[in-house]
Amino acid sequence: MSVDRPRPLVAGNWKMNGLRSSTRVLEEIHAGYTPGLKAKVELAVCPPATLVGVFAHHAVGSRVAIGGQDCHAKESGAFTGDLSAEMLADAGATYVIVGHSERRQYHREKDVDVCAKAVAAYRAGLTAIVCVGETREEREAGKTLAVVRKQLRGSIPVDSNSHNLVVAYEPVWAIGTGLTPTVADVAEVHALVRDELRRLVGKAEAPRVRILYGGSVKPSNAAELMAVDNVDGALVGGASLVAADFLAIAGAYLG
Ligand code: PEP
Repeated sequence: MSVDRPRPLVAGNWKMNGLRSSTRVLEEIHAGYTPGLKAKVELAVCPPATLVGVFAHHAVGSRVAIGGQDCHAKESGAFTGDLSAEMLADAGATYVIVGHSERRQYHREKDVDVCAKAVAAYRAGLTAIVCVGETREEREAGKTLAVVRKQLRGSIPVDSNSHNLVVAYEPVWAIGTGLTPTVADVAEVHALVRDELRRLVGKAEAPRVRILYGGSVKPSNAAELMAVDNVDGALVGGASLVAADFLAIAGAYLG
């Protein structure tokens, strides 16, 4: 474990799942977010955009943070179907995920787009969760570190710090597949991310920026993954839809 670890964050990415009736899941998360757990770990839930306002309203007083899953780089304008970071903030979000591999893959978002979205998040007062990670082909070709380094350099804005930036390392091949890298592989990539952060945000801030691991985190593997050096929490997809599983993952920090 790192000596000087920042407060961990366990964030749930609900993707395109959830209706107003899912507020029940949020309420179960609130109920299980005991003072003991609150003292050890921050929780955030990133529902689909339709639920950000509803969830933020329900989350008042619970200290579960609410986040968006994407934002447009511009503050407003003729961008049908898009949402600005300001709109998410206005709805009560404090986080926004940018550069998730599903956005990079299905919407062809490049590092430059991700960087512009992170800038938008900062402008709106949100904390950006910037996602990076290699594909299976890139890992098999031995390119993981080079790919992640390039994504970090291209996606993280110059004015980033430990308050406005969280980095999520999510190997694309581990997302939703039940596969996870070895603990040694996670440690290697997270060490690289920390090293790059020293260049990108400076030596003083770098140790305080949270680096999340994401990709098939579940209650059965959370403790092992969260104990890896430079892993400061998790970005959780599928398992975040079930309150008991999400809480059990966060519970890895209870020791
Ligand atoms: C994700 O999509 O960010 C993710 C980590 O998904 P899962 O936990 O389902 O692999």
